Amino acid sequence: MAIPMTQILPVLPTVDEHYCDQWRYPDGVAFMDGQYLPMSEAKISVLDWGFLHSDATYDTVHVWNGRFFRLDLHLDRFFGGVERLRMKLPYDREKIESILTNCVALSGHRSAYVDMICTRGSSPTFSRDPRQAENRFIAFAVPFGSVANKEQLERGLHVAISETVRIPPKSVDPAIKNCHWLDLVKGLFDAYDRGAETALIVDTNGHIAEGPGFNVFVVKDGSLRTPAFGVLPGITRRTVFDLCAEIGLSATAADISRAEIKGADEVFITSTAGGIMPVTRIDDAAISNGQVGSVTRRLMDLYWRKHDDPAWSTAVICP
Ligand code: PLP
Repeated sequence: MAIPMTQILPVLPTVDEHYCDQWRYPDGVAFMDGQYLPMSEAKISVLDWGFLHSDATYDTVHVWNGRFFRLDLHLDRFFGGVERLRMKLPYDREKIESILTNCVALSGHRSAYVDMICTRGSSPTFSRDPRQAENRFIAFAVPFGSVANKEQLERGLHVAISETVRIPPKSVDPAIKNCHWLDLVKGLFDAYDRGAETALIVDTNGHIAEGPGFNVFVVKDGSLRTPAFGVLPGITRRTVFDLCAEIGLSATAADISRAEIKGADEVFITSTAGGIMPVTRIDDAAISNGQVGSVTRRLMDLYWRKHDDPAWSTAVICP
């Protein structure tokens, strides 16, 4: 029996749900240069290579109802990216975990979007040699946000496939979560021009790649598939694989053509910003009967239920 959408969808927190009212900065709290600051005061130099050259890596984890969701996986990906970019963090993993916890607790938000960033920084002598730069660590916690709003979560997103090609993995390793978004933003404008709400862009072979801040899955004859090539290995994408293994659904990473996505039984996107989100229209045509499908509903339900399971989440402890 289909689970009603009202029982699946997360209830977004109200502004009154806070931890530590005496410290509350409603827009969020940042950590930089060794200090915790209100978001409005968190600023970096225009000479930072992160700003000038997109020379940075970052990760975003969410906190839901007072618990980080799969923080270890986000930290693994972040530390992997920092190492591949030959940057050095000024703090170890334990300290970064405590900084993230403090940002959330000080912000007061029980559901938050939490970023950790490492930029190349800049050199005291303005050297053009990246080895001379002093790398910079920044973290912040702001209110939880989602790619899809409430209405879109209920009826499914309307997506357009843009001709824009995602930056190839031989240019930028997609496993390093990065800020190279000009292709994704162009895709978004293409989608808006066509009356859609968000975009999917393609890989160098013309297959479906990913969208601005999300991976994509198709469901066909009860099996799931997500692109393998040239995409960020998303933590939510990984979570879908883990959930499928738990409930005995087949899920693979392999190419998806435009025809295949349009002919799918169900399509959904995945992101830390919103979780598993249904897609019901692509390029002006309905996916199947145009309704959110039963596999998508089942996975959405399971995904949100895992958020208070200690095997998948950790409590934010107020300092
Ligand atoms: N793809 C891109 C380009 C992204 O920026 C993101 C998240 O920001 C994702 C996919 C989804 O990754 P995750 O599930 O880890 O949030």
